[in-house]
Amino acid sequence: MKWSLPQIHPDRCTGCGRCVAVCPEHVLSLHSRHPFGIGDKKAVLDAPDVCTRCTLCVPACPFVAVSMQKIRLNG
Ligand code: SF4
Ligand code: SF4
Repeated sequence: MKWSLPQIHPDRCTGCGRCVAVCPEHVLSLHSRHPFGIGDKKAVLDAPDVCTRCTLCVPACPFVAVSMQKIRLNG
């Protein structure tokens, strides 16, 4: 079974937060890769199972960092 989910390209993401703001399900957030939470933040899909795949986050990104990608579930 294939499923589309938003993928965030970390090299393109500037951490502007626009995708986080438009997500109706509040499943996107900004995270630092640093263990103490310092430095640049990137958008992360926190709860793929809650994401409704509405695609609103894709056009919200001015840096073309979000795209819907098919992933395979349950083989
Ligand atoms: S596809 Fe919709 S529900 Fe899923 S992360 Fe993007 S805006 Fe949120
Ligand atoms: S809108 Fe784009 S650049 Fe801004 S936080 Fe989301 S993915 Fe990153």
